[in-house]
Amino acid sequence: MSEEQPKVYERPPGYADMFNDAGRNAGSKSGLSLQGLDITAYDYPYLQTLIEKSYSEWQKENAGAEALKKFRWAVLSHQGAWLSGDSGLREYFAAGEDGAVHRSLSDKMPASGMNPGLYEGSVVCSVPLFTRSEGDLFAVMVSVSPGSAGEELALMVTESQALLFRTCFYRKFESMFVNDLVRVHDHAKLEAYRRSVLFQYVKRMHVQIDVHSVLSEAIESVLALYPEAKVELFMSQDHESSHPLVRPLLLQHWQEDVYVRTFMEGTLTIREHPESQNTVEIGIPMGGKQGVYGVLHIEVDKPVLPDMDLELLGMMADAAGTAFENAKLYEQSNLMIHELRMINELTQRLNKSLHLAEIFQFANHELLKILEADYCCILIYNAELGGLEVVSCNAEWLAKEVFEKDYGLGGLVYHSKEPLILSDYNEERPAESKLMETTNSSSMIATPLTVNGEVRGVVLLTHAKRHYFSYDSYRLLQALTSHIGLAIGNAFLHAEVRRMANRDMLTELYARHYLDEVIYECQNRDFCGALIVIDIDQFKQVNDTFGHQRGDKILKQVSNIVKSTIRHSDIPARWGGEELAVYLPGIEIQQAVQVAERIRTRVAEETDPRVTVSCGISEWNWTNNKISVESLFYRADMALYEAKKNGRNRIVVEKAETV
Ligand code: GH3
Ligand code: MG
Ligand code: MG
Repeated sequence: MSEEQPKVYERPPGYADMFNDAGRNAGSKSGLSLQGLDITAYDYPYLQTLIEKSYSEWQKENAGAEALKKFRWAVLSHQGAWLSGDSGLREYFAAGEDGAVHRSLSDKMPASGMNPGLYEGSVVCSVPLFTRSEGDLFAVMVSVSPGSAGEELALMVTESQALLFRTCFYRKFESMFVNDLVRVHDHAKLEAYRRSVLFQYVKRMHVQIDVHSVLSEAIESVLALYPEAKVELFMSQDHESSHPLVRPLLLQHWQEDVYVRTFMEGTLTIREHPESQNTVEIGIPMGGKQGVYGVLHIEVDKPVLPDMDLELLGMMADAAGTAFENAKLYEQSNLMIHELRMINELTQRLNKSLHLAEIFQFANHELLKILEADYCCILIYNAELGGLEVVSCNAEWLAKEVFEKDYGLGGLVYHSKEPLILSDYNEERPAESKLMETTNSSSMIATPLTVNGEVRGVVLLTHAKRHYFSYDSYRLLQALTSHIGLAIGNAFLHAEVRRMANRDMLTELYARHYLDEVIYECQNRDFCGALIVIDIDQFKQVNDTFGHQRGDKILKQVSNIVKSTIRHSDIPARWGGEELAVYLPGIEIQQAVQVAERIRTRVAEETDPRVTVSCGISEWNWTNNKISVESLFYRADMALYEAKKNGRNRIVVEKAETV
């Protein structure tokens, strides 16, 4: 909070008086000339009150006048209608049939006449009253007198009283006008004050961009205005505010609580405190554009209430509601930016690697970090093993484990293809889970891992606390997992491309260049190794006899025999044409001979049409002077040549050792 803006809302002098009628009349002096002000024909229909007030004022002025005791008075409108006067005359004049009145109205001149209709010998005098600026007739002053003093005198008295009445009328008119001015002025002053308070308040609100500060500001500002009040703020959403006066709004006690009613109805509510007769409770809704977020609850002593500017408080609550809404939006967009940044970083780093193992490891590590989970387990369906394989898990005892594909929570997610949020494993257990059991976890979020549009596995995250994961963390997990799926898809694709690049299409054996690379790596790493080159005997003839297509099939048959004869670690390749080769890492020549022999016999027995093969074998070991791929091949090739020379369907090891 900046120091330049002390939170003092100084109330203007007489501020409280603005809320009641007392004090309104204390109006300030206006610099306006009131002489120029007048009533016009438009005001005539509204003159009744003013005339009544003027009449009683005029009566007071005349209170002691003995001479007037015998007169009775009335004021009639410019159309002869009753406005004010002696109530005994009302019925008569309301009938509108008096001759003197008629004459004075039509001639706009004073008029008089004997009137036996009222009482014996009575005289009615009617004197028009004119406006002071335009001289328009706006009313008539009428007297009824016994007439004993003569009609002329009665008319003179009436004329002078009409003048006096007119003065009283204008005095009243001016004072009413001044009162109006004062009221407008008061109102303007109040508005200015409210505006200044609101301005300071809104300015402070807008400096706050976090939800907590907005709520604190709302409470503190009300307290600054009404230090004597007890203020609380009830919020409807789950805001974990640390402010001691912010409380959750629980809707159970509907009807009883002012704040609940205020919240439901969205309007300001006032009522006597149920436990203290001298206290009132005020509920002010705090609403934004999209709804009511909470209720400002104020308790004050009853006598304070009339002094309170509830309208201002309402405006402040609205400003707080809007600021709260903005702060919430800001909070959410920040969260979103944060999430996007994390997703971006994760994606970038995931895509640096095309090795599946690395991706799994990294994804696991990041998910644990981002979602602040205890354990993360990534399962991938392994078709060869026929189950969900743990490809990465920080609970090491589960690493590499393969689960039946419908076992446990992982199996459930894998099958249903639906994400899962579990808030308390001990309460609600849709399936057994070794991960949950062995890690003593209570909460879990899990989501299927989709690669190229197909569910290929499951990501599971756990935590020891119950109700640990929020909906937001679940959403984030989904977003992150989709990116992990993409990275895995890329790695799968890359592996496939690599596999294809290293394979020979016809035989599905490795390509020669791959064999060269492997041998080169082995020679740098191992102690020894052996190479068998295999060449089909008289293949040209086979082709000539059965055709090239059958020749291809035989080549495939021989390749399959080779593949199924050797171990997993041996590398079979198509060396060229109808020549194959097998590299046996860490194997010495004698064992290689046995392998070659098995191949030779099986080819001779199993191929159809039957063919035979000749083999040449070479070896290397770390004691050799010169170790190279070329030398190994050269020597094997020489041995093969020997085998061909010696009659085919046989095996020759280098240095012309015939077996
Ligand atoms: P030998 O090795 O016993 O000396 O006689 P050979 O007839 O097999 O002679 P050589 O190895 O020199 O000839 C290889 C023949 O194999 C040439 C070609 O017709 C055939 N050949 C090479 N590659 C393929 C292939 O991919 N498919 C088929 N069908 N034939 C092939
Ligand atoms: Mg050949
Ligand atoms: Mg051949």
